[in-house]
Amino acid sequence: AKRARADTYVWFSQTQTDEDDGDKLQLENDLREALAAGDQLFLRFQPQFRLSTASLIGFEALVRWQHPTHGELSPIDFIDLAEDAGLIIALGDAVAHLACREIAALRADIGFDLPVGVNISPRELAAERFADRILGCLKQHGLPASMLTLEVTENVLIDSPALAAETLGRLRRLGVRIAIDDFGTGYASLSYLNRFPVDVLKIDKQFVRDILRDRNDCAIVNAIIGMAHNLELEVVAEGVENAEQMSLLKSLGCDTLQGYLLGRPMPGSDIAAFLRKTERISAQIEAA
Ligand code: C2E
Ligand code: MG
Ligand code: MG
Ligand code: MG
Repeated sequence: AKRARADTYVWFSQTQTDEDDGDKLQLENDLREALAAGDQLFLRFQPQFRLSTASLIGFEALVRWQHPTHGELSPIDFIDLAEDAGLIIALGDAVAHLACREIAALRADIGFDLPVGVNISPRELAAERFADRILGCLKQHGLPASMLTLEVTENVLIDSPALAAETLGRLRRLGVRIAIDDFGTGYASLSYLNRFPVDVLKIDKQFVRDILRDRNDCAIVNAIIGMAHNLELEVVAEGVENAEQMSLLKSLGCDTLQGYLLGRPMPGSDIAAFLRKTERISAQIEAA
């Protein structure tokens, strides 16, 4: 999706008005201020459930921006902007600290481990001392490395595959888990799965959406699951919205599900209440 957007951008920029440019610049400045002020960016946490045990196994952290005049903005509205404006490192740091802080508080509260997935954009990963900053963040919040999964897309492999492999390899040897996000939508050749430190493949929600109707999507998902298991990788399906999708994914042997069916992204303060309702969700998974 990133690529498609990058391709269309040239066209848009030619037809863009001065007013659009002004808006973009304004939003960039707003983001710079938001990062300095530190009270406008926040996270929502979306639960992930393992099918074999019908249990909650962790969350993905998804960033939101409470903009002073535009209201709540989605990452789709500002991640690319942050990359272009050179703000993605600061944003990534803010996200990593928010995620570790909230998940450490939850862990202290409940007394067991529910790891968190954090999305990392390619430029963040390529930045100097990325691994040190992640390790420093874990340490500061008193979390073991096993409490963190880094979600990267295949695009991290395109610009500097050796650097990405080295950085992620170092983190992985220390216990951080590595997930390939939006799997199946990128441009990298599959051969990287041999050489690249990976634990998890997250099947993009575009394949899950029509899985019941579209035989090709179903075949693709089936093939991804088979391949992942042969490589001893865990498979997460994203975007699971209904029980029929869940049963099909269960019958195909998918390991883990994430989607509106099992839980919408929620504020950290709602997690405790959510934990009290997971029995009902577990029953739904068992019945699938
Ligand atoms: P992603 O990492 O693939 O995250 C999954 C997206 O799917 C999230 O959108 C989530 O809210 C949405 N989703 C979850 N369940 C369902 C479902 O059942 N149906 C549908 N239609 N959608 C579902 P969101 O939160 O808008 O995030 C969009 C993308 O922005 C993320 O895709 C990720 O690539 C990026 N992103 C989010 N947070 C961060 C961040 O902290 N840093 C960076 N660099 N990127 C982020
Ligand atoms: Mg993700
Ligand atoms: Mg994804
Ligand atoms: Mg995505």
